[in-house]
Amino acid sequence: MRHCALLLVTVFFFGYAFGQSNSSSAASQDELARIVGYSMLSGGASDFLESLTDRIGGRITGSPESRETAELILKALKDAGFNTAHFESYEFSPGWTHGPATAEVISPVHRTLIIGSYGWAPGTNGPIEIPVEDIGASGDGHSPLPDRVRGAAVLVTLPSSMTSSLYVGTRMLLAQQLARAGAAAMFIVSDKPDRMLYTSAFLIYPRGPLPIISIPNEDASFLRRLLTHGPVKIHLDVQNSFTKGPVPERNVVADLPGSDPSEMVLLTAHFDSWDAAQGANDNGGEMATVLEAARILKQLKIQPKHTIRFVFFSGEEQSDLGSRAYVQQHKQELDQIRAMINTDAGIQAPLGLKLYGRKDLEPATKKLLEPLAALNASRVFLDADFDSDEESFMVVGVPAYSLAVEPADYHVRHHTVVDTFERIEPRMLALHTAVLAALGYTFASTDERPGKRLSPTDVKELLRRTNLESLYELDYSGEKPY
Ligand SMILES: [Zn+2]
Repeated sequence: MRHCALLLVTVFFFGYAFGQSNSSSAASQDELARIVGYSMLSGGASDFLESLTDRIGGRITGSPESRETAELILKALKDAGFNTAHFESYEFSPGWTHGPATAEVISPVHRTLIIGSYGWAPGTNGPIEIPVEDIGASGDGHSPLPDRVRGAAVLVTLPSSMTSSLYVGTRMLLAQQLARAGAAAMFIVSDKPDRMLYTSAFLIYPRGPLPIISIPNEDASFLRRLLTHGPVKIHLDVQNSFTKGPVPERNVVADLPGSDPSEMVLLTAHFDSWDAAQGANDNGGEMATVLEAARILKQLKIQPKHTIRFVFFSGEEQSDLGSRAYVQQHKQELDQIRAMINTDAGIQAPLGLKLYGRKDLEPATKKLLEPLAALNASRVFLDADFDSDEESFMVVGVPAYSLAVEPADYHVRHHTVVDTFERIEPRMLALHTAVLAALGYTFASTDERPGKRLSPTDVKELLRRTNLESLYELDYSGEKPY
């Protein structure tokens, strides 16, 4: 019943809103109503996501599962009539295989610990027996470390209240510092409930400087309690491996050509995932909604003024590898992109668009979002972070957006064993599809661009103003996109 009620509200709103004048947009209001209505009823994103998560599951970049996913997306696009949909290949290095990881307390008592390895972190070169040391929350990547960390499994707590970019930046700086100090392994205490682990590869790629392990809060508390009574020793075996030489990967690209293809809007989502579960919320659901938005616009024979390009990136979890490759491969046409809209924050209620500090985009964007007010998806957010693939476009000055959503319990589920299809609400997938398809259509149909492409000087100023300069240095060390 709630599904039907929502649809009625939507249709009612559009019937009302379409009677009002809207001078900012050349988008047809009838077309928008058709797009939103079909998106709410199609169920296509949910069907695709169920098939993806059941048949393939987790999809680490460079893996057979990632290859299979790219093929599944391309087939769906071709079946929908996107005849020129294609792969765009790139290489990355090194590849990495997630091996088994085990740990056991061997002194003063015997007890198995739950652990998981972070991505693109090395293994232990066979089983080792090492002491446990705890530096608590004192490690910030800069402050001196105590000598006792040498040769030890070092427990660290990273405050989860930090922004995601500050969090991953601190994590990597601290890992480098621990490796220089001779630590045997870094044990990051998971902030998830119920003995859940959190693992990731972001900024650890291309190669972690030492074994980096996630340990549940409960297991860390046990070790810390033992440490109050005296020395603690563990047996640790982490069997990850790196591949030699470059690994091929692919993005998937499809165009809905505009009547004036001199400009385009990009609707994007990454299809790779972390491997703790099925990558349903990060980022299978979002990817399925971009795909379904493409299929709906095609099926309805929507003719936008400018081209809508759908891009499905691989390699996001490592360091936006796919979107960086895309920017490199398409650098001649970056001026043609009037907006890049990415979605990677979870299938929770959409709220509007994140602008990444681009105040200049705010007036035009607010106008473009007006038709989504009844869906509560017309707000703009100016906060800036390096969250996902929009970063690759932001640093080359392209107007880069992402879909802002209610946080809900994303933080708890993200990259954990419970990122499964069962946790995704089908009606939320439909709502995301509707919002994305509408955004693609409206952004591609206005006469004016929402804003200009920033010059390299303007980008530097934007990074300074948004406090992203130091993370940018860490993220793009040695390699300047501008
Ligand atoms: Zn993601």
